[in-house]
Amino acid sequence: MNTISGGKPHVLILGGGSVGLTTASDLRKSLGSDVAITVVDSRPYLTFAPFLPEVGSGSIDPRNALAPLRKALSGTKVVTGAVTGVRSSEKVVAVETEDGDDLEISYDYLVIGLGSVPRLLPIPGLAEHAIGFKWVEEAVAVRDRILANLAEAASTKDPRTRKRLLTFTFIGGGFAGGEAVAEAEDMVRDALRYYPDLHSSDVRFVLIDAAPFIFPEVSEEQRAYALNQLRERGVEVKLETFVNSCENNVVKTSDDDEFETDLIVWNAGVKPNPLLSDSEAFDIPVLSERGPKMGKLECLPDLRVKGAEGALDDVFSGGDCAAVPDLASGEDKLCPPNAQHAVRQGKRIADNITRSVQGRPLVDYYHKNMGTMATLGMYKGMGYLLLGDKRIELKGLPAWGAARAYHLITMPTIGRKAAVVADWVSSAISRRDIIGIPQSTNPRGAFELAAGPKKK
Ligand SMILES: Cc1cc2nc3c(=O)[nH]c(=O)nc-3n(C[C@H](O)[C@H](O)[C@H](O)COP(=O)(O)OP(=O)(O)OC[C@H]3O[C@@H](n4cnc5c(N)ncnc54)[C@H](O)[C@@H]3O)c2cc1C
Repeated sequence: MNTISGGKPHVLILGGGSVGLTTASDLRKSLGSDVAITVVDSRPYLTFAPFLPEVGSGSIDPRNALAPLRKALSGTKVVTGAVTGVRSSEKVVAVETEDGDDLEISYDYLVIGLGSVPRLLPIPGLAEHAIGFKWVEEAVAVRDRILANLAEAASTKDPRTRKRLLTFTFIGGGFAGGEAVAEAEDMVRDALRYYPDLHSSDVRFVLIDAAPFIFPEVSEEQRAYALNQLRERGVEVKLETFVNSCENNVVKTSDDDEFETDLIVWNAGVKPNPLLSDSEAFDIPVLSERGPKMGKLECLPDLRVKGAEGALDDVFSGGDCAAVPDLASGEDKLCPPNAQHAVRQGKRIADNITRSVQGRPLVDYYHKNMGTMATLGMYKGMGYLLLGDKRIELKGLPAWGAARAYHLITMPTIGRKAAVVADWVSSAISRRDIIGIPQSTNPRGAFELAAGPKKK
């Protein structure tokens, strides 16, 4: 073996998300100090996305939905920088650091866990006015905007401005989008008790989806339950509806509706990290057939990546950027892009690299779906659990408790788990915070003003 780091195999992990962090920590457990591990990520932390809807509603402090990589992976080298290319033929990865340095990092084993990005459609005005809901900065910005708008709307006399400020549009009613709007509406209803000048009928939440239902992952009965929940709470759910344009923050939809809005949150699906499709930078081919495989790395069941001429024995992948056969659901099925699979694929990759180092045969990835749970605001939730052949459907408080418990168990690091529990206790006792810190493009503005005019 071409060992690089003092005779030890060097495992280079691209992306410190669900796949990357799990692979790195399991590898450390299985090979101890007999392996050198490097994790490269443009962010110095893992974003625990299942908690983002609760960050967006103020039930969880934003920092507590993040796991700092250097703390979670002691003994592992963490490089904060953007991966810009992979030359698997030379076993080299190109990385650009924050301050613009170009690095070339060699490896014995490569793990690609570069995740996904929002899948945008060419809707006029979308790129200019909408915001995603995939990263903590976005969840914080959505919450701050909504709360800041309540304060502004309560003070304005102009009815049109007030209407615009209090109209919040969410596009995409899958799990991430459905949870995000439900949590945000719950936060607003809670906050309105402090706004005697505003009434709940002044606030308009609109959820738009092209499909005839929301939450496609659950049963028909549960979809209907979630839809009723949202509609009873006043969320206007537009199904089988397309957004035609959102120029100048005016949303025009295929049902001939047209309205001004101050917030457009885009949650209509993800696509694999586009870096992988850049064939000049990345010499491993991705799948090009249309559909859920498009742009993904093709994996064998043991999670080795397929190159142009067959399996690459030293390159593994998993998570949102990989097409992984779902052996538990049938040969032709692919694992859906979720954290449940990403974490378990990370574990399988770590074990298979350990096996490869030790000259043992690799094992195929097999994971039976355990179900899925969503929170829909405080004390509200829905979803199902699969225990063996038993399917248990939950709604309301039990589902909310199960969703929180499941996500807490899977949140990395004990410290963060404890901090999240503390956030929940605090928001249950003293209600959620209602301050929206307005986004400032010049946080030094007040200081500069205090310093007085610049001397010429
Ligand atoms: C709002 C929301 C809620 C969700 N809720 C759930 C849920 O309840 N249950 C569930 O199972 N799943 C949920 N998911 C999906 C789940 O979060 C993802 O499927 C999972 O995180 C995928 O793991 P990954 O390792 O493939 O990617 P990620 O965890 O996204 O990690 C990818 C990493 O790669 C890094 N990266 C990307 N490009 C570069 C580059 N060029 N250079 C360096 N680093 C780079 C990123 O910074 C990131 O850290 C949710 C997703 C969202 C957005």
